[in-house]
Amino acid sequence: MEQALRVNKDRLWSSLMEHARIGGTADGGINREALTPEDGAGRDLFAAWCRDLGMEVAVDALGNMFATYAGTDDSLLSVAMGSHLDTQPCGGKFDGVLGVLAGLEVVRALHDAGIRTKRPLTIINWTSEEGSRFVPSMAASGVYSDIFTMDEAQGWQDREGIGFIEALREIGYEGDEPVGQRKFDAYLELHIEQGPVLERNGILVGVVTGAQAMSFNNVSIIGREAHAGTTPMNMRLDPVAAFTRIAAACYEKADATEDARFTIGLIETTPASHSTIPHRLNFTLDLRHPKASVLAELIATYEAAADRERARGYQIAREEFGASPELVFDARCIDAVRQAVRDCGYPSMELVSGAGHDAVYVTHVCPTAMIFTPCKGGVSHNPAESITPEEAEAGANVLLQAAVRLANA
Ligand SMILES: [Zn+2]
Repeated sequence: MEQALRVNKDRLWSSLMEHARIGGTADGGINREALTPEDGAGRDLFAAWCRDLGMEVAVDALGNMFATYAGTDDSLLSVAMGSHLDTQPCGGKFDGVLGVLAGLEVVRALHDAGIRTKRPLTIINWTSEEGSRFVPSMAASGVYSDIFTMDEAQGWQDREGIGFIEALREIGYEGDEPVGQRKFDAYLELHIEQGPVLERNGILVGVVTGAQAMSFNNVSIIGREAHAGTTPMNMRLDPVAAFTRIAAACYEKADATEDARFTIGLIETTPASHSTIPHRLNFTLDLRHPKASVLAELIATYEAAADRERARGYQIAREEFGASPELVFDARCIDAVRQAVRDCGYPSMELVSGAGHDAVYVTHVCPTAMIFTPCKGGVSHNPAESITPEEAEAGANVLLQAAVRLANA
């Protein structure tokens, strides 16, 4: 009986649209940054919808919300589904909220059909995923997963100096439950892809098997400042020239390496004057690959290119300010998603997440997998972020079938 069960597409879509009014902007986007009054209102609406289904809503000390639909054996750990309700200041209607409201739609479909799974089901809203008002990103799922500590959380502040805990109290979402105390049998997160791969391949559902390894770096190259008009080319130590050779070597390697992601997002020279050869150039190096071993090869390519420039007399330093290891999600959870896709008959493909998500932290403490839906043009963190009702429905159906499979096992 459960295997034939499907979500209600229209109800899911109208809930997404109703929720999108909270923090909605004139250009069709959403501004619902973490722990603002809009975030509070978005939480209130979600909690009210859960209580309508007889669910119990608990809140932990960092405002993570856990809405639980009882199973037939509540001595067993819950199967959890969720994501985040906060947005970027110029965010869209689906990043995060889709995963939470699809979880709600799963419970609504079960409730309508009078079905209880063996294990309870819990829908989670993780606090402050976006990292736009409060740094870091994936903040409260990070504390839940022992990536950050409560002591660190006490020190988080926004640009106005308002503390995270203070803001949490202000919107009435500082709960009693210690963060990380509540355990789950499994966690499933449905999210928009935030990239163009599914759409380009005409695929409705992505089975996300893990997250790629990442390395974020600041690099500085120091040469010698000199006059642009009087210094012959062969007598210069120009850090821009060194930079172009290093960048060219890295681009060549990245272009020839399948699934590599290589980005120089910031370049600055000092001094910045058209008539002066700068003495210093700083740039960022963002390197990603599904395999840590291949990421190491990309870094080695950079290092070899930097060494060639050092031999010419440049001083070059690289500081890694962020890194994330290669992650593989839980085999049992991935299999549940694969089986759900097959049951529903959707065209699907397997991929790794290119971006960070709450699931990327939660997988450290709980068996986890993710489901992606396509998004138009791969656009996210933008008012133009767009998916179709059919895409939302497909993702939610896979979430439903995977969660029921895990919860009845
Ligand atoms: Zn998100």
